[in-house]
Amino acid sequence: MAIIRLSRKAYFNNLDIIAQKVGAVSKIAVVLKDNAYGHGLLEMAKLSHEYGIRAAVVHNSNEAEKIKGYFETILVLAGHEYSVDEKIHYAINTLAQIEKMPAGIRVELKVDTGMHRNGVSMREVEEALLLITKKGLLLKGVFTHNRSADTLSSEWFWQRKNFEKVKKQVSASQTTYGYETPRFHSSNSASAFRYKAFDEDLVRVGIAAYGCLEMDLTLEQPDLQPVMTLTAQKIATRTLKEGEHVGYNATYRADKEMLVSTYDVGYGDGLLRAASNRYTTPSGEQLLGRISMDNSSFTGDKEELVIFEDANRYAEAAGTIGYEVLVGLHPEIARVVI
Ligand SMILES: *Cc1c(COP(=O)(O)O)cnc(C)c1O
Repeated sequence: MAIIRLSRKAYFNNLDIIAQKVGAVSKIAVVLKDNAYGHGLLEMAKLSHEYGIRAAVVHNSNEAEKIKGYFETILVLAGHEYSVDEKIHYAINTLAQIEKMPAGIRVELKVDTGMHRNGVSMREVEEALLLITKKGLLLKGVFTHNRSADTLSSEWFWQRKNFEKVKKQVSASQTTYGYETPRFHSSNSASAFRYKAFDEDLVRVGIAAYGCLEMDLTLEQPDLQPVMTLTAQKIATRTLKEGEHVGYNATYRADKEMLVSTYDVGYGDGLLRAASNRYTTPSGEQLLGRISMDNSSFTGDKEELVIFEDANRYAEAAGTIGYEVLVGLHPEIARVVI
């Protein structure tokens, strides 16, 4: 069985760094969407609670229900069914969505400040506030999302300016509509590390908490540690003679006699096949031939092999980003907190 090990020490180290950056543990909302980026929803919810985190962000209501016991507020980014629940906040992504929402639920208004993916446009903010009031929804937050916070460019500053305008508008309309002061937030992991002095109410932190934040080299490089290690167990070892091939379609040819072992992890577990023939483990074993559904072959004969300690290194070999490597890992792989 492949096993995912989760380091409590690494996670708490990352949360320490983030808390220091944003000024308080109470400003951290951990993003636990998509099975906590493949780390395991319940495992990461429990660890977050243990650390003292009070806020979470998830993708859907199903995830929110599962972790309700561990947090004070949970923001659901893409809700379709709504329930009146003190802890659950639903993101508003369009004006039309407001019409479908039942009275009494807690909402956070997402505003499009430049990413052009989700959220009402800046021109629609006033109308959204009016509709929220008319429908009897409780406005708890106003937020946006950056498209290029990890990139050294002026875009982050431009979106921040836009969000400042939104904040002003929401504050100016407060007495007209009578809502309490909502929490304002715009930062994901990369954005939080762009601030000299973080001054928002909340950070929605995903990838940095898991220790896999990658920023342009000229930007701040916090000392984060990957939380997840993926390991696999050996199924078989054989000695290849020169000229013999490994795996489907014989894409790897041994150029000398060599020891090769097969491990019980494959693309069925979520190990991206695109890295076939292109990856070397942290301890130096070379991935040989094509990754199969439940198997992959590496040099050497270790009983247990660490496939990766840093998802970003595997992602490089697969031509993608660490996020995709992490979220793709099958939920049924055992998650063990160490
Ligand atoms: C996923 C997500 C985040 C977290 O992003 P990271 O880069 O992992 O920190 C924050 N906000 C929203 C709206 C998201 O969808």
